[in-house]
Amino acid sequence: LASKLPNVGTTIFTVMSKLATETGAINLSQGFPGFDCSPELVSLVEKYLRNGFNQYAPMTGVPALREALAQKTFAEYNVAYDPESEVTITSGATEAIFAAVAAVVRPGDEVIVLEPAYDSYVPAIELNGGIPVYVTLTPPDYAIDWQLVSEKITDKTRLILVNTPHNPTGYVWTADYLNQLANLVRDRNIWIVSDEVYEHILFDGRKHLSLMTHPELQERTFVVGSFGKTFHVTGWKIGYCLAPKELSTEFRKIHQYLTFSTVTPIQYALADYLNEPAHYHELPDFYQRKRDLFLAGLAGSRFTFKPAEGSFFQTVSYAAITQEPDYALTIRLTKEIGVASIPISVFYNQKNDYKMIRFCFAKNDDVLIQAAERLRGL
Ligand code: PMP
Ligand code: GLN
Repeated sequence: LASKLPNVGTTIFTVMSKLATETGAINLSQGFPGFDCSPELVSLVEKYLRNGFNQYAPMTGVPALREALAQKTFAEYNVAYDPESEVTITSGATEAIFAAVAAVVRPGDEVIVLEPAYDSYVPAIELNGGIPVYVTLTPPDYAIDWQLVSEKITDKTRLILVNTPHNPTGYVWTADYLNQLANLVRDRNIWIVSDEVYEHILFDGRKHLSLMTHPELQERTFVVGSFGKTFHVTGWKIGYCLAPKELSTEFRKIHQYLTFSTVTPIQYALADYLNEPAHYHELPDFYQRKRDLFLAGLAGSRFTFKPAEGSFFQTVSYAAITQEPDYALTIRLTKEIGVASIPISVFYNQKNDYKMIRFCFAKNDDVLIQAAERLRGL
């Protein structure tokens, strides 16, 4: 069989988590919380499971969840999405990203990808016949060179994929970025997918600047979110897409035949849980404390870093420790000192040697302290 994705192997997240399990290493590689979600949320799911909410949900999502999400979005960002026609519940952000790409990309269309980029973007583009056009961002700042982005735009550009707060670098977008992007796409037939799965995880008083808050961007953007990140339930695989009616209509045509609908009792439970803003407003303090605990532990080490601005990932440079390629180093650290991480090179299409690795700090405090202690010894 001729592969449609010849360059794709098993994702690094699966590879590293497996190696961590096999070797008994502390797993700071794949991004998932090392602690459980709230018992209240579990009780809500249990209630709906036991009370017969176990058949297909409506294709677009349970109405109560779409309404709760529209209300929450209005309260947070002052942008109104119609729950009936502009809010769609999906099986994780991954499905939403794929469906949004599939809704707009035709064979031969070009799609701007800012790399490092989350690993599902490029396969989604290629499976739809699109051509990824890369703009490379480099450490330590990963600043977007808008002039360079503008030079990559052609008559064939159909979509730009963006992500803030960003995985793996932890950087977050500024108001200037929103304006720069709006200037680039104005009067052009270019759509945007904005991956905002870490929308509630920002540090040091930063505010999330959703693309929906810029009216010119809002009208051409699929905003993608994930309850997995916000409520510590990555295994539930529930996400969503917010987009103007015309975009949502096309998005739903894909969603309808990709998965049709998403797990029912959990949608009802999330609708109830979402109505209490404290459930997501606590996240910045919660994760900032973990970031700082981990970084305090690394303070005496030879790793160098800029504290993450958002997300639950911290990237560090190991240039002062070793000249090994990052992939080899992550394998060696997992086996030798028992700490698994992710090499940054895997988020780039272009071969590179930035000597950066990523740690996930969504873990219990004792785990973070122990991991940092092992890393300090290098
Ligand atoms: N986008 C980014 C940037 C992510 O980090 C992740 C998950 N780690 C996803 C999308 C996928 O989210 P989900 O698990 O809801 O599919
Ligand atoms: N997004 C998570 C990460 O960056 C992993 C999700 C996955 O394993 N597909 O680590």
